[in-house]
Amino acid sequence: MSGIILQPASDKTFSRPHYVDTIINPVPLNRIAEHLSATQLTQITSSITTDAVSTWGIKLYGIRQWEKIEPGDTVLFVWDNQYRSMSTVLTKIQNTPLARDLWGEDEAGNTWELTYFIQQPIDINVPYEHLNAAGGFKPNYVPQGVNVLQGEKAERVLDTVFGRLPTQAISQVIQSVDGIQNLDRVSTSISRGEQGVLRNSLLGDSVSGVCGICGHEYPVSFLIAAHIKKRSDCTDTEKRDIPSIAMPMCLMGCDALYEAGYVTIENRLVKTVATANDSLQLILNNLSGNICSYWTAEREQYFSWHRNNTFSS
Ligand SMILES: [Zn+2]
Repeated sequence: MSGIILQPASDKTFSRPHYVDTIINPVPLNRIAEHLSATQLTQITSSITTDAVSTWGIKLYGIRQWEKIEPGDTVLFVWDNQYRSMSTVLTKIQNTPLARDLWGEDEAGNTWELTYFIQQPIDINVPYEHLNAAGGFKPNYVPQGVNVLQGEKAERVLDTVFGRLPTQAISQVIQSVDGIQNLDRVSTSISRGEQGVLRNSLLGDSVSGVCGICGHEYPVSFLIAAHIKKRSDCTDTEKRDIPSIAMPMCLMGCDALYEAGYVTIENRLVKTVATANDSLQLILNNLSGNICSYWTAEREQYFSWHRNNTFSS
């Protein structure tokens, strides 16, 4: 599980101008390329479509937090009572000359030499209070200094963010998944973003939910928001059809069976194939004829696509 970087940009003398200069306005790659290894440069160029990359830097006192940062981590920029934007880390370097070139120095002659490079961020605007509870902070906690969360805490915060994204941001999350879906490492947290949006729409805050194929109720950690029509075949409009494009399926096999075309939904009912494998046939027989509680007229076009293109009867 990737981490979450809570990154304040509250200070109006330096942070806020830096945010405009090198995040909102990405830095041309030719300005930074000489400072990067070939691997680091690839980590960046394979994940962005432009020839410039959003860049952030922390002063040396933040090194213990900066050391925890990994490609694929999610960064949340925060100021004035709100988490303002989110993005995904591509790579990082410690480099004083680069930092001086980008941001100069503070009054004491220090610079922001612990740099990291990110995708163009998505605006989110989530108030502190919503993330404080998820992150285990006091209700009046105000993020100060960079703080990298990991493990379960990071997961809870991320789920909360995805649960509160405005429509515009959801669209952008899905767009960035399209941009990087072939890059396993870096795409982790952003595709998690789309999954989070879909899950939230289907399951909300529930602790358990019903699988659309077997009909059993499972803890939400055993359910995924599965695309009814194969994601890679969806149009942009279909990917953004958050209320209808997906339904919960369990990890106990239903998701895999659906994806492989052994089961589908027809007339609201689960339909299965015949197979030569006895164990598999037993499972399929149990599923056959179940009522799919997620069938709706809006979802039918996607089920229909699955029957015609994935189901292997
Ligand atoms: Zn199931």
